[in-house]
Amino acid sequence: MTTLTRYGASRNDIEVLLASWGEPAYRARQAWEGLWVQREPLEQITTLSRDLRARLAEALPLTLDVATERSADRGKTMKWLWRCADGAQIETVLMRYPQRATVCISSQAGCAMGCTFCATGQAGFERHLRTDEILEQVLRAAHASPQRVANVVFMGMGEPLANVDPVLESITRLHQDLGLSARHITVSTVGIVPGMQRLTKFPLPVTLAVSLHAPDDNLRNDLVPVNKRYPLADVINAARTYAATKGRRVSFEYACIAGVNDHPDQAEALARRLQDFPAGAHVNLIPLNPTSAYRGTTPPVIRLRTFAERLTERGVNATVRRNRGVEIDAACGQLRAREAVLEPTGSSATMKP
Ligand code: SAH
Ligand code: SF4
Repeated sequence: MTTLTRYGASRNDIEVLLASWGEPAYRARQAWEGLWVQREPLEQITTLSRDLRARLAEALPLTLDVATERSADRGKTMKWLWRCADGAQIETVLMRYPQRATVCISSQAGCAMGCTFCATGQAGFERHLRTDEILEQVLRAAHASPQRVANVVFMGMGEPLANVDPVLESITRLHQDLGLSARHITVSTVGIVPGMQRLTKFPLPVTLAVSLHAPDDNLRNDLVPVNKRYPLADVINAARTYAATKGRRVSFEYACIAGVNDHPDQAEALARRLQDFPAGAHVNLIPLNPTSAYRGTTPPVIRLRTFAERLTERGVNATVRRNRGVEIDAACGQLRAREAVLEPTGSSATMKP
């Protein structure tokens, strides 16, 4: 039997555990509801006695230690660098809005896909995350958020569709145990076609986001090496099948890099590829967040606007995404990259804006 952890334990696991301690059945319900319905840290579930909380804390350990915690935008964006039990480091970002909050989570420590402009890709692959490590990121962020966490996006470190089983199991539990609606869970993929096919067969209609970054295979081979295995036409086809099967609009991410992929002609080529998408396509233009190992720069705002206009003129929805928390390196893998240089001991620091 695998060891139980705080957010790996199912409702049944908690019932069996408490029954084995001779506790009445309603104690398991209180523990479960405190953890998953009220979303409280175990220490704050005051329906349980202090003794019982302490026993549970020991029997159901957390899997993540805070290595670094930072905040920006007057606390509206928070970012954690966590240390897993084996020393692997992963990142989670909380974005708070007036009524609700979004958590951006990691699915792997590192990433094997090697996208040239991405800090996570530059550092390489360490290991897959387990379901409990994925879920704990959401709950730990929820503990820090006065607004209810209503959205979860798999846009942190790692390629979720290269770690399909734990990711799908986490989605099932986010839906069933945490009560998130499937459309408020977004899986962002670099375009792993077999993983996209698994997601199409998966019963929950989660939101699919596909990272394209280029309108043709030549350029995409450079930016996204896995394009050689799953070329653009196959990726877009798999996204079309997903959209048609689920009746959901698919998003496409496009990191804009000055002089590389931001020419208006490239917008037109992209629009041609995304014509007549089932339920509509939406392109998210992300200004490049510069990283140390990649020479590209962020295009001027006017360039991004022109690119977006060319897409919309051709019937493809497009928006320019504002990067939140840039000053705390809240982009993919960047906090870890920075800590590796500046704070190798992983001391705790909160950056005040
Ligand atoms: N591996 C998945 C999900 C994690 S990355 C994927 O690639 O989709 C989440 C998004 O951040 C992707 O669209 C990715 O291309 C983008 N991204 C990574 N590094 C970036 C950078 N330096 N600047 C802008 N966007 C970046
Ligand atoms: Fe991996 Fe996504 Fe970064 Fe590419 S962009 S290296 S797939 S995390």
